[in-house]
Amino acid sequence: MQYITLSYMLEGNSPVHIGLKDPNIYPNIQISKGGGYNSYIINVENHSGTHVDAPGHFLDMGKIISEYNPDDFAFNNPVILNVPKKQNEFIRLEDVLESDLKGKDCIFFRTGFTKYREKDPETYLKFNPGIDPDLVYWIRKNYPSIRCLGIDCVSMGGYQKPEEAKKAHLNAFMENEELGKPLLLVEDMNLEIIENLDLLEMVFIIPWQIKGIDSAPCTVLAKLKQ
Ligand SMILES: [Zn+2]
Repeated sequence: MQYITLSYMLEGNSPVHIGLKDPNIYPNIQISKGGGYNSYIINVENHSGTHVDAPGHFLDMGKIISEYNPDDFAFNNPVILNVPKKQNEFIRLEDVLESDLKGKDCIFFRTGFTKYREKDPETYLKFNPGIDPDLVYWIRKNYPSIRCLGIDCVSMGGYQKPEEAKKAHLNAFMENEELGKPLLLVEDMNLEIIENLDLLEMVFIIPWQIKGIDSAPCTVLAKLKQ
C-alpha cells in the first residue's frame, strides 16, 4: 500500500476525553424501514476520536481550525519518533535529542499507549502519557519549521497532570515573537499501523470542514515511500 491512515475510524464507542459526550451515530432514514434511501445522523463532540487541535481550543482569540488553508495541512517532512512510555510518563527533551529534526515540519510521538485503547479504555483515558510543556516550548524555539505535533494518546497532556496538560497546549498555541507560528496538535492517532518508520514520506491532516469550530475530527493520510 502506498497510502495508509494514521487515524482511527470514529464509532459510537470510540474513547473520548473524560467529561465529553460519547459519539452518537445512528440511522435516520433507512431502506430496511421502508425509506427511499439510507441516511445517518452524526452527533459528536469536535474533540472525538483522532482530531486536530488548533489554538482556539485554549485561547479565545486563537486561530480556529476552519481558518487554516489547505497548505497548512500538508507535510512534506514528517517524522514518527519511537518514545515508549508507561502510564503518566512524560515525553521529555532527552527523548528527542538524538533525533535529527532539521527541516522537519511535523513530529508524531509513538508512545505505544495504543495497546490500551481497545482492551483497557479506562487506562487509555485516565493514565495516558503526555508531553512535557518545556519540550513543546523547546521544539518551537529550536525548530520553527515544525508546524504540527501528534501523539498516540487521547491527549498531548497527561490526564493525571492537568496543570502540565494545559501548559503543554498553551506552549503550543501561544503567540510569541520568539517562537514562530503556533502549532497544530493531533491527538488519538493510530501510529502502530506503520512498521518501518523510515518509509513515511508525506502526511496530510484532513479535518472535517465545519465553519466556526476550534478543532475538528480528522483523517490523517500518510504517503509511504515505495
Ligand atoms: Zn483535543
